[in-house]
Amino acid sequence: MKALPPLKYDFFGVVQGYLDAAASVIKLPDYVRVILSQPKNELIVHFPVRMDSGEIRLFKGYRIQHSNVLGPYKGGIRYHEHVGLDDVKALAAMMTWKCALMNLPYGGGKGGVKFDPRGVSRAELQRITRRFFHALGDNIGPDIDIPAPDVGTNAQTMAWAMDTYMNMSGGKGRQAVRGVVTGKPVASGGTLGREKATGQGLVHCITYWAEEKGFNLEGSTMTVQGFGNVGSHASVILAKMGVSTIAIGDHSGYLHNPEGFNPHKLQEYVKKTGAIAGYPAGKPISREEFFKIKADIFAPCALENQVGADEAKALQCRVVAEGANGPCSPEGEKVLLERGIDILPDVLANAGGVTVSYFEWVQNKRSESWTLEEVDERLERAMRRAYREVVDMARQKGVPLRVAAYAVALQRIAQVYTEREIFP
Ligand code: NAD
Repeated sequence: MKALPPLKYDFFGVVQGYLDAAASVIKLPDYVRVILSQPKNELIVHFPVRMDSGEIRLFKGYRIQHSNVLGPYKGGIRYHEHVGLDDVKALAAMMTWKCALMNLPYGGGKGGVKFDPRGVSRAELQRITRRFFHALGDNIGPDIDIPAPDVGTNAQTMAWAMDTYMNMSGGKGRQAVRGVVTGKPVASGGTLGREKATGQGLVHCITYWAEEKGFNLEGSTMTVQGFGNVGSHASVILAKMGVSTIAIGDHSGYLHNPEGFNPHKLQEYVKKTGAIAGYPAGKPISREEFFKIKADIFAPCALENQVGADEAKALQCRVVAEGANGPCSPEGEKVLLERGIDILPDVLANAGGVTVSYFEWVQNKRSESWTLEEVDERLERAMRRAYREVVDMARQKGVPLRVAAYAVALQRIAQVYTEREIFP
């Protein structure tokens, strides 16, 4: 008899499992748990795009609006060949917890388009982006739902998105809608410090963890999976603090360099070529070998479900700092915790991005431009407070940091439901 194909990873189910666990820890009113167990709106659009060859191709796009009880929906847009409803729902729910944890006046949302952005030209990428945002229409807006970059999208994508939305807005209100997306280039209404913000926030969390454990970061080592926006900035910032990145991986393969990579040069190389493959200063290794390399810190900064039980058994690190959303499966997390490896959970560890996105949105609303120092200081304060709250909750309730992070977020959301109650 033929073996059954492996079950697809149920990312949304995983996030719901953590919601249930945290709900019981803080005795969340059950009606709040039920409301939060599904997104408020699920938008799926199909839109045609003329490709360079003249062919018309139909694309499928998603925008999931999970909760807006604390403010407008907020969350990134992903371009990837595996984007699907289940992942985007999971990611949208996680944005709700993340914004609540960071005390931002936002709810959670996420979106994406199912295609490989590396397989199209720049002109096609622009047309796909413009048609997608046109299809989203007034389901988004600076006070409704505010997208940002995620995997496969960047500041350039946001500039096209903003321009499309501005052109769809009535002439008189056009200048007031720059805040429809964040993560824009600085000249087009972005903020200083946004590009590195998620990596910077991750580094803050690693620093607080090190302070707490009496661990000296200077002279320590790290491995990084995913060398895009989050992974590369984390690696560059940590290098200045004496942390050496000795192994890296991305969609094109894995590289090892026991002497430590020069993350600046590698970042430039990836910007130019789109991948780490072919970078001369490292020995190509397999994915299995990558997970076995001994290093103090492992930073998964690629995609969800990368650390299952096997990878968790192989890892030889002291801490897993989740730059990516959902990189550890529940089975992987269980093994890591049993082995005494700490996990800095995604909703806390990668919250620097949305926090600085909020600063961008505030600057757009007030027509202000803050200095990099101002942005950095505010981010550091916000990350430190959230880290403290999560660690205190974990101690008080005797739960892992992930459940504690969800619990802090849910308490904030529950308070608003208690005050406002349910319409009508
Ligand atoms: P990115 O597109 O800049 O980089 C993604 C990286 O993952 C690339 O290096 C890519 O090669 C790698 N990758 C893709 N598929 C892979 C595979 N199968 N195996 C190994 N590596 C693979 O994206 P990003 O913005 O850096 O996002 C990375 C993660 O961080 C995602 O989980 C995202 O949701 C999360 N995140 C991003 C932000 C942000 O501000 N950009 C904020 C919070 C969380």
